[in-house]
Amino acid sequence: MNTENELLNKNLDKLIETAKTVRKNAYTPYSNFKVGAALLTKSGKIYSGCNIENGGIMSICAERVAFTKAVSEGEKEFEAILVVGGKDELIYTTPCGYCRQFMTEFCKKDFIVCMYYGDGKIVKKTLEELLPDSFILNE
Ligand SMILES: [Zn+2]
Repeated sequence: MNTENELLNKNLDKLIETAKTVRKNAYTPYSNFKVGAALLTKSGKIYSGCNIENGGIMSICAERVAFTKAVSEGEKEFEAILVVGGKDELIYTTPCGYCRQFMTEFCKKDFIVCMYYGDGKIVKKTLEELLPDSFILNE
């Protein structure tokens, strides 16, 4: 599927910087695996999120933090998300299964997920590629 996208290309540097910056706020006393996400809306706004672990109940991933921030501000149309993750250095980090399914609630199959892991290393995949044949209620 096509992952070339004008709005994404225009905002790519800003998405990388936003994800790297918000990653510093990750709360990860258990895994020390810090993730940052930058979510681009179709109107060109960017929402950030970091992972927040919890010793007693389920932790929340950076991707879902970014989505919940955006949706709670009234956003419903999304173009792409960029994810960075790792302990000390950035490594290739993809959204977990929970997040992939969560994204299908708000995004079409051609929604672009970017995995950035430093020095221009980036992999772009569509949501369909990351979660083929996903569950969709009422379809
Ligand atoms: Zn996740």
